[in-house]
Amino acid sequence: MIIGILAKNDTAKCIGAEELKLLLTGLDERSERELYTAAAETAKKAYGNRVFARGLIEFTNYCVNDCLYCGLRRSNRRVGRYRLTADEILERCAEGYSKGFRTFVLQGGDDRFYDDRDIINIIKSIKNKYPDCALTLSIGERGRDTYKSFFVAGADRYLLRHETADPGHYAALHPAGMRLESRMQALSDLKEIGFQTGAGFMVGSPYQTVDNIVGDLLFLRDFKPHMVGIGPFLPKSGTPFGVFPGGSVRLTLICVALTRLLIPNALIPATTALASADGEGRKMGILAGANVVMPNLTPPGQREKYAIYDNKAITGGESSENINRLAEELRSIGYELDFSRGDWKDRGAPPHTPLGASPHGLIFYE
Ligand code: SAH
Repeated sequence: MIIGILAKNDTAKCIGAEELKLLLTGLDERSERELYTAAAETAKKAYGNRVFARGLIEFTNYCVNDCLYCGLRRSNRRVGRYRLTADEILERCAEGYSKGFRTFVLQGGDDRFYDDRDIINIIKSIKNKYPDCALTLSIGERGRDTYKSFFVAGADRYLLRHETADPGHYAALHPAGMRLESRMQALSDLKEIGFQTGAGFMVGSPYQTVDNIVGDLLFLRDFKPHMVGIGPFLPKSGTPFGVFPGGSVRLTLICVALTRLLIPNALIPATTALASADGEGRKMGILAGANVVMPNLTPPGQREKYAIYDNKAITGGESSENINRLAEELRSIGYELDFSRGDWKDRGAPPHTPLGASPHGLIFYE
């Protein structure tokens, strides 16, 4: 079967599970290109030809969790662990600010060394010093009241990938104590509290089926997160999943494009995992509908210790030191690196269509 995709506004057809499955499995080369074009056009309608830059500060690689895919998992004894002090974090913000960044993302393992008070103090000092900057947290699951106190302290956004929307698959990726239900509860708490909220998943994680991916896309369609991180699974030696093959770059790009069509206004990064899996990954991600990049502001001495998977890109366009190269790379494909806060916006994209209907009018034909 050939599946054609035409980007037309007047012929919207519902994208449901069946259609998503066809798109994930049955695209020929031409249709795949059409899908990327439709996705990139949708992103441009919402945000223009701009790609937002976020300064990523990986401030701790300690983690209480034991996720089977992740190099930072508690039982991985081969990691040299590090933590940044509040002053060191602020120093990284100063460095980023001077380079032009107006969004900082604090990401780490689930590290309870920083209690709620510590995080609140860090949020407050960053927002006091840089009131013009957006602050994103990505520090895993904490309770609703804690999230609320982070929001009140000034944090603007929160990234918490759902990882997989299928409870059985979630159980295969995580240790017994972790439950999809808590993850989903945390996501809806974050959104309700008022955070610009990010979900997302890995493509090609062990035991993932096409139906799982369909489930992930349907979850995204219905939950409508403001941000969506999608990257290929990449094996990390020394973890239980270290021997599994990495996820497909092509399938990742298709998922990025479909997510763009399902949530036209989403802020979608061309992830580091995508850039790590393929030298052209970042550009391909943007051309498939992504519109965010997250250059690394972690202190260069610690960066290689934040090794969630093997062969992570930490130099080149991924590093904040090479921001001009990144800007040039984006310019070469017709995009401008944008240093503004880059908040989610509810305007500019095609009008919202009922749940399940494509804003872009995908036409399926045989
Ligand atoms: N502790 C935080 C941040 C985790 S790291 C949290 O729980 O949200 C950010 C993301 O990296 C994870 O959500 C996961 O989707 C991704 N990741 C972890 N290990 C990976 C691997 N081996 N390959 C690809 N992505 C991975």
